[in-house]
Amino acid sequence: MFVSPVWGLYSHRMAFLNDLVQSLLPTQCPLCSLVPDSPRRAGLCGPCESLVRGRLRMTTTPPSVVRCWTIGDYDGPHGALVRLAKYGRSIRVADYLGLCLGVALKEVVELMAVDAIVYVPVPPVRRMRRGFDQACRLANEVSASIGVPVLNAVKRIDGREQAGRTGSERRELGVHAFGLRAISLPDRILVVDDVLTTGATMNSVARVLRTAGVSHVFGAVIASP
Ligand SMILES: [Zn+2]
Repeated sequence: MFVSPVWGLYSHRMAFLNDLVQSLLPTQCPLCSLVPDSPRRAGLCGPCESLVRGRLRMTTTPPSVVRCWTIGDYDGPHGALVRLAKYGRSIRVADYLGLCLGVALKEVVELMAVDAIVYVPVPPVRRMRRGFDQACRLANEVSASIGVPVLNAVKRIDGREQAGRTGSERRELGVHAFGLRAISLPDRILVVDDVLTTGATMNSVARVLRTAGVSHVFGAVIASP
């Protein structure tokens, strides 16, 4: 389905205005529904903010990835905020999650000597509808926290939607879903995405990077099962 760039610009402005209104009005914490006296980043109350900062842990590591980390569970507060960022079109929530991931990753990224960050781009139709690419927002915040640049190196070469498909269908589609832009790549890359479920999407991106000569691909997501 074709969505015009004008609609994409409109969607981005609507997402921005949505966040602006939410930040100016006394609103409920998106996690616990209390109305905090002093809302923190993304409108969270103090206790929920502490909860979301999370701890880094290893998660399922796809075959083409050296190690993959997450800071939360998909069924927990991190998953709830990822869904709010995506379906509630909240840029500020996406940015806050990226900040949390970046802070948590700082030590391991230095240890693994990561040279650059690559994000898993959402399908163009979704980006236009939503007004922003949440994985790109996450990657930029991680970059700001750890001081490693973001490379816009991966592109979708297949716009078929993957939501609602079975694990085997995703694995089958994933092989052909991504290609590389014509830029030079460093040896050690961190791939950032919002969630990791089967690992098929992360693995597809890692495979195209490895095929292009990247020696070590690491992964980091906000939430996983
Ligand atoms: Zn709360």
